[in-house]
Amino acid sequence: MSAVQVTSPGESFEVVDRPVPETPSNGVRIEVEACGVCHSDSIVKEGTIPGLDINYPRIPGHEVIGRVDAVGSAVTAWEPGQRVGVGWHGGHCFSCEQCGRGDFTNCERKRMTGVTSDGGYAEFMVARPEAVISVPESLEARHAAGLVCAGMTAFNALRHSSATQGDVVAVLGIGGVGHLGVQFASVAGYETVALSRGSEKRSLAKELGADQYVDTDGSDPGETLQSLGGADVILATAPSSGAIESVVPGLAVNGELVVVGLPEEPVSLNLGPFVSNRQSLQGWDCGHAGDATETLAFSARNDIEPMVETYPLDRVEDAYSDMMRNETQFKPVLEP
Ligand SMILES: [Zn+2]
Ligand SMILES: [Zn+2]
Repeated sequence: MSAVQVTSPGESFEVVDRPVPETPSNGVRIEVEACGVCHSDSIVKEGTIPGLDINYPRIPGHEVIGRVDAVGSAVTAWEPGQRVGVGWHGGHCFSCEQCGRGDFTNCERKRMTGVTSDGGYAEFMVARPEAVISVPESLEARHAAGLVCAGMTAFNALRHSSATQGDVVAVLGIGGVGHLGVQFASVAGYETVALSRGSEKRSLAKELGADQYVDTDGSDPGETLQSLGGADVILATAPSSGAIESVVPGLAVNGELVVVGLPEEPVSLNLGPFVSNRQSLQGWDCGHAGDATETLAFSARNDIEPMVETYPLDRVEDAYSDMMRNETQFKPVLEP
């Protein structure tokens, strides 16, 4: 099969011919139709997490959509021909303390697709059955690929937030996660406020369903949110400490700051209003296969689509560098 591998951290991708992987007894082999290119792939490409034991050469990719090609003898949940996907959560142990509570994303021995095992930058990959996502037939593979990581993060963060219908929900940043956050917030019935730098994204934000657009360069975003009644929830997708600091004064009484985009620098917050106005800070980090299955089903029912740009495997370097430089509004998706 044709595949893209990273031979050692910091080096360029290599497009190689590799044998189609064998299907182990507890494995599901997937013929890949599309695989999103995500910032987290830099963990393999650049080796950015010291101490994480990655076996190179490694095939990255954890936003995988395709069809079951073969299943191992111990697999009962899946069968060849089913439309499926795999996300960042690559499997769990079922026996640790967190698994015992059903909190599979925090399994002490969790696997990460395309990191602890080969991922979807290839024509075929093997997944653990508990990591396989069910994909509605009505979603195109490239769109579903853009939803299993970024989309699930936005969907999960919002549905686990304190927001209810009619609440003001502000989405900070209209990039990969934010442009889906705006769609989920709008469909969920929140008064949706999109915030981004400059006026160029105003029309896009409105098309995505935002009720209001705030240009954070043109006004004080905290004051603007307060003039709208205050944000009951702010979904912070822009990984910028300055942007987060500027919107926090816009939280309503009992407001909740939900952070999904991680800035490299520390964030400086005045905790006074968090105490006096009972505000809270919550972080969210994607989810497991069940969450992804629900994200895709909800998206299919409500016509929620990510903005994607497709690349063949041999253009992986372009897809990756466009994503890393933040030069494209669109999610890069590889089509093997
Ligand atoms: Zn991802
Ligand atoms: Zn576990």
